[in-house]
Amino acid sequence: MRHTIGEHALIGAGSVVTRDVPAYALFFGNPARLRGWACECGVVLRFVGDRAVCDECHRQYARRHPHHPEVLQDQIRPAA
Ligand SMILES: [Zn+2]
Repeated sequence: MRHTIGEHALIGAGSVVTRDVPAYALFFGNPARLRGWACECGVVLRFVGDRAVCDECHRQYARRHPHHPEVLQDQIRPAA
């Protein structure tokens, strides 16, 4: 079965992906689960509330579902 891997998502080595991976997701394990989010430049993002700013390149991101951080459909998007 094929799964869609979102843009800039990072998948850990040896991980078994059993579902679609959203863009910018940090996914690893067996089965692979959402462990966090990564910037377009590859740096792991630290969310404060529903916002994150990359330590490296200062790109900003916003969570789409801030009240349900664990739901599978959780996604983030670049923010101004
Ligand atoms: Zn960055």
